[in-house]
Amino acid sequence: MPLYSTQNIKLYNSLSGEKENFTPIHEGNVGMYVCGPTVYSNVHLGNVRTFMSFDIIFRYLIHLGYKVRYVRNITDVGHMVDDIDEGEDKIAKKARLEQLEPMEVVQRYTVDFHQTLKAFNFLPPSIEPTATGHIIEQIEIIKQIVASGIGYEANGSIYFDVVKYNENHNYGILSGRNIEDMLANTRDLDGQSDKKNPQDFALWKKAEQQHIMRWPSPWGEGFPGWHLECTAMSTKYLGNHFDIHGGGMDLKFPHHECEIAQNEACTGQTPVNYWMHANMLTLNGKKMAKSTGNNILPGEILSGDNTILSKPFPASVARFFMLQAHYRSILDFSDDAIVAAEKGYKRLMEALDTLNQIPTSKTSSLDIAAWKQLCYDAMNDDFNTPILIAHLFEGVRYTNILKDGKETLTEADLTTFKKAMNDLLFDVLGLENEKSSNSQNDKLEGTVNLLIEMRNQARADKNFALSDQIRDQLLAIGIQLKDGKEGTSFTI
Ligand code: AMP
Ligand code: ZN
Repeated sequence: MPLYSTQNIKLYNSLSGEKENFTPIHEGNVGMYVCGPTVYSNVHLGNVRTFMSFDIIFRYLIHLGYKVRYVRNITDVGHMVDDIDEGEDKIAKKARLEQLEPMEVVQRYTVDFHQTLKAFNFLPPSIEPTATGHIIEQIEIIKQIVASGIGYEANGSIYFDVVKYNENHNYGILSGRNIEDMLANTRDLDGQSDKKNPQDFALWKKAEQQHIMRWPSPWGEGFPGWHLECTAMSTKYLGNHFDIHGGGMDLKFPHHECEIAQNEACTGQTPVNYWMHANMLTLNGKKMAKSTGNNILPGEILSGDNTILSKPFPASVARFFMLQAHYRSILDFSDDAIVAAEKGYKRLMEALDTLNQIPTSKTSSLDIAAWKQLCYDAMNDDFNTPILIAHLFEGVRYTNILKDGKETLTEADLTTFKKAMNDLLFDVLGLENEKSSNSQNDKLEGTVNLLIEMRNQARADKNFALSDQIRDQLLAIGIQLKDGKEGTSFTI
């Protein structure tokens, strides 16, 4: 019997604003779509947090025995600067500034995204489609929206008429916004735009002569609007009606609101049963963002190469830091907070070693089954990782009193306990035991320090050929020595 038949998940649905029982459309199967990154620069730690929130959901669903099709796209066209229809495509702009082909920009930052997620131990999604790989599907959807009378052509571009749509549907159903207020609060377009209403959004934009990213369409050469790609890719791989759609909180409006409108205009049905939104990672109390520079890069966590950080931190510590907050709460990053997280993470990893030293007994004085169910209850309650972590720390306390012989477990209970600790820490939370890689780092550090001492001795002996050789050959393998007042340090 799969685990999911005994565990009832309740998840917070942004559409209803309530926690709801999770019932997949097809028993035992879950379809989940998450908006992926716009690959025009390196992902920052805030982006990683949102993707991690959904990595946890993916992991837990798999752990419960669901067959999950997880689709997370790559946005490689159509996302305009400042998220508005007018202006420049983020990728085209970067390509122009750096004198690159747009696809070089896309490739560079897609590789960075994949390397980052691998370093932070993410499970890869089942399908990772790109927007440029689904232009035909997007054009087909536009044709249907135009045929329904809700899409209109203006000067080679196609727009979605939100006012017309709102006559028979509710534009604002997800974000709770009201169309009259939206229209009242938007400045008049004064004939500067081809749109009928300021709230209308682009399905297809005509490519001006200088625009490099362009495709042929029934309306001339152009490129798709940002919201459309997710409608095309989610429905292509998950069907017109699927279980979960997620993204960061800032995508709720307009991106996800527009997705719902496109789907309903096109198929007449609501696309998604559960909308899930992850909250923001902040730095100095402000949202981490690429555009403002208020961010920290995942690579900087690993290298310690940022003035905010007192030292480097393993990826699992950063993961643990983020999972100590619930995905719907804002989390502020600070050095103190990640240092504290490292202590907690180490206590958990040490407990796993101690667990192996516990003798078994004929009777159990601790109720392991009840403790384990509390762990699952936490995850079943809208994927509450901080509560789960609190129970895992209770598991650390159990481990210590068992080792001291103050409590006892039978062999069967001890096996259950060990398995649950391992499953929850590694499979569900996606942590890795960094101890083994730390000991490798210690060895490397010891070796380089020995070479630094030998170089110092060579310099004292005026054997500059040898001291230069040590410096240059270390540099050739990527280890740079830095001479300073405090002595010689190194970076890898
Ligand atoms: P983007 O590449 O800008 O489309 O963003 C990729 C994902 O990261 C989206 O789901 C955003 O909502 C999310 N995101 C952006 N900034 C933050 C942040 N500071 N904290 C958490 N998630 C974020
Ligand atoms: Zn999207």
